[in-house]
Amino acid sequence: MKNLAILGSTGSIGVSTLEIVAAHPDSYRIISLTAGNNLARLEEQIRRFEPLTVAVVKPEDARALKKSLGPGGPEVLCGIEGLIACAAHSEVHMVVSAIVGAAGLVPTMAAIEAGKDVALANKETLVTAGPLVMEAVARKGVNLYPVDSEHSAIFQSMEGHRKGDIRRLILTASGGPFRKKALAELREVTPAAALAHPNWNMGRKISIDSATMMNKGLEVIEARWLFELPADRIAVHIHPQSIVHSMVEYVDGSVIAQLGIPDMKTPIAYALSYPERLTLNLPPLDLCSLGSLTFEEPDLERFACLALAYEALHLGGTAPAVLNAANEVAVDAFLNGKIPFLEIPAVIRAALERHQPQPLMHIEEALRADLWGRETARLIIDTPS
Ligand code: NAD
Ligand code: MG
Repeated sequence: MKNLAILGSTGSIGVSTLEIVAAHPDSYRIISLTAGNNLARLEEQIRRFEPLTVAVVKPEDARALKKSLGPGGPEVLCGIEGLIACAAHSEVHMVVSAIVGAAGLVPTMAAIEAGKDVALANKETLVTAGPLVMEAVARKGVNLYPVDSEHSAIFQSMEGHRKGDIRRLILTASGGPFRKKALAELREVTPAAALAHPNWNMGRKISIDSATMMNKGLEVIEARWLFELPADRIAVHIHPQSIVHSMVEYVDGSVIAQLGIPDMKTPIAYALSYPERLTLNLPPLDLCSLGSLTFEEPDLERFACLALAYEALHLGGTAPAVLNAANEVAVDAFLNGKIPFLEIPAVIRAALERHQPQPLMHIEEALRADLWGRETARLIIDTPS
């Protein structure tokens, strides 16, 4: 029996994780759940999975939840202390880190510092503070398993091979809903159109990141820290069918890939059960009816966010934290109708231009850069040009 904490249990990854847990009740037990919103869904999850501790972000939500659950329910905590307590709970073996955004960094670090294994969906944690997170993982001797489908594919394609034999990693990207749109057409796209991903059903922020291809940029940075390879050995191929989830090229020219239907339950389950595999009732991959798989180069002019992510990695230190923070603010502004789609990369570029990257020695520096990136992006958005 593995005891789990799920940070961000009401989101897309959180819900898929709980579906896997529900199908394997003899293998997993839920110790703690946390959510930032969607209290009704959290309450359903509490009744179903009976965690010992839960945490929400706002104190008023904690009060409302306690009242609604009545006596005999779990301990209900709030705020960052509540998230940390859920992650570091003494009975937890593994923490599923599935909060969206850099808000996941502190609780994920708390999990590592408390000696917990981590199943990491929250890529923004590695983008904001990758070297510090990996240093803590090594120091505490815990395991960090990727949930992101591309990184899970690379992890699986590395099994049984020598790391020194890797020539490069090839991350696949669907290209999102606007893969074929011309630059001029991208000016006009609406949040609703950007949220409609062709292959994956995900949370709002990552859906917009997929449309701008910042998601792939964040994943290049995530891969850089997770697999300890420099950016010039991490390539991106557009693969609209989302069947090949990523590949590893070895020095002898062999390329090993992991394939599957686009369903996050497969990589989530692998992170939960590694090195075993869980039986999942998913439709099989039917390559014959698919007929063909295609690949193309990404266009860095139309998808400037991908180029900006490589640029931030090149700048180093606190630059990726600023890239991520400015992106979070710009995506939110786009979703709220405050800026057009193509302003997202423009805001991030302007924030990076104003930033003087500092070395990343402590978590506080990452958090300060995150805050600075947010404030600067807001200022750029609110200042008429
Ligand atoms: P989501 O928006 O559906 O869910 C996010 C969860 O985090 C929710 O439970 C929400 O209540 C909680 N939350 C949001 N803001 C919070 C805050 N400030 N403090 C505490 N909790 C907060 O997001 P998602 O699509 O499930 O994505 C979660 C993470 O997994 C992201 O980092 C995303 O990039 C990554 N990821 C998602 C997918 C996917 O298919 N959805 C695939 C790969 C990676
Ligand atoms: Mg991914």
